[in-house]
Amino acid sequence: MTQRRIYLPEDRMPKAWYNVVADLPWPPPPPLNPANLQPLPPQALEAIFPKALIAQEMCADRWVEIPEEIRKILGLWRPTPLVRALSLEEHLKTPARIYYKNESVSPPGSHKPNTAIAQAWYNKQEGFKRIATETGAGQWGSALAFAGCLLGLEIKVYMVRVSFEQKPYRKHLMHTWGAEVVPSPSPDTEAGRQILARDPDTSGSLGIAISEAVEDAATREDTNYSLGSVLNHVLLHQTVEGLEAKEQLDMIGERLPNMVIGCCGGGSNFAGMALPFVKDKLDGKDISLLGVEPTACPTMTRGEYRYDFGDTAQKTPLVKMHTLGHSFVPPPVHAGGLRYHGMAPLVSLLIDKKVIDTAAYHQTEVFEAALTFARTEGIIPAPETSHAIKALIDNAIRCRETNSEEVLLLNFSGHGHFDLASYDLYLSGQLMDYEFPQEAIAKAMAAVPKVDA
Ligand SMILES: *Cc1c(COP(=O)(O)O)cnc(C)c1O
Repeated sequence: MTQRRIYLPEDRMPKAWYNVVADLPWPPPPPLNPANLQPLPPQALEAIFPKALIAQEMCADRWVEIPEEIRKILGLWRPTPLVRALSLEEHLKTPARIYYKNESVSPPGSHKPNTAIAQAWYNKQEGFKRIATETGAGQWGSALAFAGCLLGLEIKVYMVRVSFEQKPYRKHLMHTWGAEVVPSPSPDTEAGRQILARDPDTSGSLGIAISEAVEDAATREDTNYSLGSVLNHVLLHQTVEGLEAKEQLDMIGERLPNMVIGCCGGGSNFAGMALPFVKDKLDGKDISLLGVEPTACPTMTRGEYRYDFGDTAQKTPLVKMHTLGHSFVPPPVHAGGLRYHGMAPLVSLLIDKKVIDTAAYHQTEVFEAALTFARTEGIIPAPETSHAIKALIDNAIRCRETNSEEVLLLNFSGHGHFDLASYDLYLSGQLMDYEFPQEAIAKAMAAVPKVDA
């Protein structure tokens, strides 16, 4: 009988994170100080990040040891199972062998605690008592609330207002793990007060919420900031996914995948799975690394690769990435998550160098794919994850039509148990597709600073 679930024993959890920078022939463009457009000195980040994470952000070593205490906490749910999607394969009548890495088994239900635990731990090591952060739909906020709870740190979450009002369940998760949560923009920060004065009815955005959390951290001695995606050290922490998946495929004698597929918001879950395969690809192996996004927030497929701010209030350094412009606000009709205006600089660099491929899908076809997955493999995927599932199913069908026995590897980034209202909208025919108008992108791009680099 074909083995369905492939478990790594706990003592074979990776002991080091993998840093792809060591294997790249291209040095990553440095973050810049927006005031003088010079590379940002690491000390400039010390107002909001612990030194250990800044060092990881700039690190060029191939391996970064995972402290024993972090591995012990990750052991609550790691290594995560790699699952052969036999029922989906049968349903699609595809000769492809499909595997998914099930990151939904973590307590908050996604890949995000892989980095939340690490970030909270390093902050605690360096004596910080409190962390401020932003959250969109609430996955990152709940992951950090969970980490803060286990490590004894106070967590304050600025939650994008539309989600705060429409998606109460992750807020309840955060409260259960003891975090404080406010709708963003909030009256608690200067950035929030300014935006509320201009536009009191704004639905908020991740860019605005980041401005608030960064300001909170920069203005309090005991507080740091924490970001759930985009940054190099976050991608680094997520590489446990790909490192484990490689071992799991190896354990059952499976070859390297032909495709590695993941959805991209800021790029961290996809990168965590894909980066450990980049060296194989650079060495000539036939592997497509496919990042998938919504057409409603088409950062990788329609954005430009250039220096931009990470937030709306222009408080962050300039980073070179695919961007739709820091003033971009995604349409509120969009139910499918993945709403950030930028993309991880490392993912962006690899897209630019044609190492990473990209695709974008509409939300109704994405939910249709989610239903196919839920009705075969059983798990109800997060709307974000469903973007990757849509690409997976399309490629499995391509394999059927071309009779190719490819190995397809999907990162199953999270479950959708707190997104059932979106499923209800889809099932009752109320979910509409949305293409971001070119004029709106052009308008947001016009506000991006001009940097010759
Ligand atoms: C946050 C989230 C994403 C998107 O973030 P990335 O940094 O791109 O991984 C994708 N899937 C799930 C389930 C998430 O919670």
